[in-house]
Amino acid sequence: DGETLYCIGCGAQIQTTEKDKPGYTPKSALEKGLQTGELYCQRCFRLRHYNEIVPVGLTDDDFLKLLTQIRDADALIVYVVDIFDFNGSIIPGLHRFVGDNPILMVGNKEDLLPRSLKRPKLRDWIRQRANEQGLRPIDVALVSAKTNHSVDQLLQKIDKYREGRDVYIVGVTNVGKSTLINQIIHQRTGEQNVITTSRFPGTTLDRIEIPLDDGHSLVDTPGIIHESQMAHFLTGKDLKIAAPQKQIKPKVFQLNDQQTIFLAGLARFDYVRGPRTGFTVYVENTLPLHRTKLENADTFYDKHVGDLLTPPADLDQLPPLTRHEFKITEKSDLVFEGLGWITVPAGTVVAGYAPKGVGVLVRKAMI
Ligand code: GDP
Repeated sequence: DGETLYCIGCGAQIQTTEKDKPGYTPKSALEKGLQTGELYCQRCFRLRHYNEIVPVGLTDDDFLKLLTQIRDADALIVYVVDIFDFNGSIIPGLHRFVGDNPILMVGNKEDLLPRSLKRPKLRDWIRQRANEQGLRPIDVALVSAKTNHSVDQLLQKIDKYREGRDVYIVGVTNVGKSTLINQIIHQRTGEQNVITTSRFPGTTLDRIEIPLDDGHSLVDTPGIIHESQMAHFLTGKDLKIAAPQKQIKPKVFQLNDQQTIFLAGLARFDYVRGPRTGFTVYVENTLPLHRTKLENADTFYDKHVGDLLTPPADLDQLPPLTRHEFKITEKSDLVFEGLGWITVPAGTVVAGYAPKGVGVLVRKAMI
């Protein structure tokens, strides 16, 4: 009846409409909470009852406030990125907000990358991409939050670098930050009841604190939303099919120019100009790939999108594919943000198509 309600755990304003925003509470839980007088948002409820945190997304404006607080803190900053969607993991302008605080980069979803990719090389690659963003990480750790691989080593690194300070964990949504924090919580919960929630002062943002041995804490910050991620354009069902689940098996295509490969109905690759050569595709293993002649590609798409080229299951939900052309001068990855990439050799002209709004870009080859 119009009255403003607040979560007694984190202080966020209760709302029942936006699942991934602070203060979200299902309607049924709201009624129950009002009866018992103990009104928690879903995030805090799950934290209290299951020691599980739920991801929550923020607007850029809220995030700016949060970054400002990080700048003023004396802390180790743990910056979690998704190795599979590196560009979609970037927090724009983070370098301006870290101040003198050291940054430990964490490349998550390590389980998705082929074994043949040497890990020191991958760490170097991440470090170089960070440098391009104006960041100078003191170290780069590779983990899989999902399989719990190397999470122990990460905790050791955190202890080594924090030197008696607090730890702030930052990341955009979908990089797996919640999965990682849940792993950390579960590893630590044996000892004591470790989690508390409070607010970032002066904001309605909640924070989760995992106390460390010396009175300091590990602080989880809400994830910022990165608009150009594929995840924001797909329905839940399509996303399940398109997002890689297991270690990716690269697929090599020998192509002449004027040939096209469709990545289901979600993206398209045109080999515009260059000699016959090999292209390596890194996407979810079960995503259907179709090769056609470039001149037939438009007709092929119109005819087969939604059947042979699925996902998308429902074309109405997907913005139209938009073309981006690139002249390749060194071995590069043509990246479809969140969907994967195609490694292309030097001396070629290629074009990538993705739903309007999804990033398509070229970067130095990872592999
Ligand atoms: P958050 O928004 O950053 O908190 O991300 P979530 O923890 O909710 O994870 C986003 C998606 O990535 C979920 O579908 C997770 O299952 C998946 N995910 C998280 N960590 C990993 C990982 O280490 N490997 C793989 N393959 N998937 C992961």
